[in-house]
Amino acid sequence: MSQPERFETLVLGSGEGGKYLAWHMAKAGQRTAVVERRWIGGSCPNINCLPSKNEIWSAKVADLARHAARFGTMTGPVAIDMAKVRQRKRAMVEGLIAMHLENYKASGAELIMGSGRFLAPKTLEVRLNDGGTRVLVGDRVFLNLGTHPAIPNVPGLETAEPLTNIEALELDYLPAHLIVLGGGYVGLELAQAYRRFGSRVTIIEHGTRLAEHEDVDVADEIRRILDDEGIEILVTAETLRVEGRSGEDVSLLVRTPAGERTIKGSDILVAAGRRPNTAGAGLDVAGVALDGRGYIMVNERLETSAPEVWAISECAGSPQFTHVSFDDFRVIRDNLAGGNRTTRGRLVPYCMFTDPPLARVGLSEGEAQRQGVAVRVAKLPTSAVLRTQTIDETQGFMKALVDARDDRILGFAMIGPEAGEVMAAVQTAILAGLPYTTLRDAILTHPTMAEGLGSLFSKVPPRSAQ
Ligand SMILES: Cc1cc2nc3c(=O)[nH]c(=O)nc-3n(C[C@H](O)[C@H](O)[C@H](O)COP(=O)(O)OP(=O)(O)OC[C@H]3O[C@@H](n4cnc5c(N)ncnc54)[C@H](O)[C@@H]3O)c2cc1C
Repeated sequence: MSQPERFETLVLGSGEGGKYLAWHMAKAGQRTAVVERRWIGGSCPNINCLPSKNEIWSAKVADLARHAARFGTMTGPVAIDMAKVRQRKRAMVEGLIAMHLENYKASGAELIMGSGRFLAPKTLEVRLNDGGTRVLVGDRVFLNLGTHPAIPNVPGLETAEPLTNIEALELDYLPAHLIVLGGGYVGLELAQAYRRFGSRVTIIEHGTRLAEHEDVDVADEIRRILDDEGIEILVTAETLRVEGRSGEDVSLLVRTPAGERTIKGSDILVAAGRRPNTAGAGLDVAGVALDGRGYIMVNERLETSAPEVWAISECAGSPQFTHVSFDDFRVIRDNLAGGNRTTRGRLVPYCMFTDPPLARVGLSEGEAQRQGVAVRVAKLPTSAVLRTQTIDETQGFMKALVDARDDRILGFAMIGPEAGEVMAAVQTAILAGLPYTTLRDAILTHPTMAEGLGSLFSKVPPRSAQ
């Protein structure tokens, strides 16, 4: 065994929270190491958020180019060069990696490229990517292991070598017919992007609707938008068997309420949930307890069952967003400095970057109902916001939930252009505890999407009416 090396801060996995923690501790003078097996900077800049949004933007350009005549710009037939789409994405990722390496250098944290596995509490063996091993002991250990795509247990699926988000964002060809397994946000974003590049696309969702964590009206509107773009959508559809190989020919036997049917396509993309990267990391010998699904059990300060060992973000069951991973870092950082910050009651906003995007913060109607919270609901079609008339993007709606007993804003959802930016204004109001009337009565710039908030909150029913 190699001679153990001692670090004050040892981070396994270089996701958003882990890398920020490492940089912070190293800058504070701690001897710090980060062990990462593949993605410098974690999933977000390499294979998840930023590369997907990069290619989604290329798909938006393709869509605008196809409909350019509507805006008075006359073009010829539109052709898609997927190698160029990929090249633009790769160039961005390379730039982000360089930025991360610079941050490691500037902070003084050592980045060790290799796969880590615990040999004993707080003692990691790293199989270095360049060969050889190192054994690292940490005074404090932080686990930021992330998740990977789940491959459902369907006969023939694994041997069909389906795409996941990683390979889908690396294609240099256009699938003739892409079959997407899963109608959650990863599947929907990529389904629409590939449709806009020019693929025929079929989505197969085993639940009763797309985006099934959303309210029914939200899910229905998303479905309508994707339907309009020519995406075939099957819900309550169970894939029974797969034959063939993705990238060549595939054939799926699917059970739907109308009976069994066979769907033939060229490529399969699996976007059917995630599994934690905890298997094989030796967490049992490290004394770190997992729950029944393999996620690391943590308390609201992100402390694990092992002393001086914390877990961050997706592997610890936090909501699966980069901004949450970053907030997990802040919880740990502040507590190490003597604070008392927790993950309890966090207001977590999110967007789905379909076009138009969905943005959400606070309670949905379904959640309010399940929690027994009485709300007043206001809704406004996106087309009523005059900005949308200027850009020809009128699909969607805004919805606000206001407490039935007082004027606090409890939730907001929007499908429409700039939904994420508009939502941030509502989120700020929620954080500040402002009554909805403040947004209703504010002078909002004309013609912006945020101007719609005035009209939306004017539609909140009076308290006595409900
Ligand atoms: C297609 C897609 C799009 C997404 N888009 C968005 C978005 O737009 N906005 C958003 O907020 N979120 C988005 N997400 C989610 C987001 O990417 C993650 O929530 C975020 O990156 C946080 O991940 P993390 O910090 O848990 O870990 P990660 O960033 O996944 O980091 C974990 C790291 O640990 C490494 N690792 C694991 N095990 C070991 C080991 N044994 N040894 C060494 N290294 C190891 C992995 O290689 C990995 O780099 C998207 C996800 C997907 C799949």
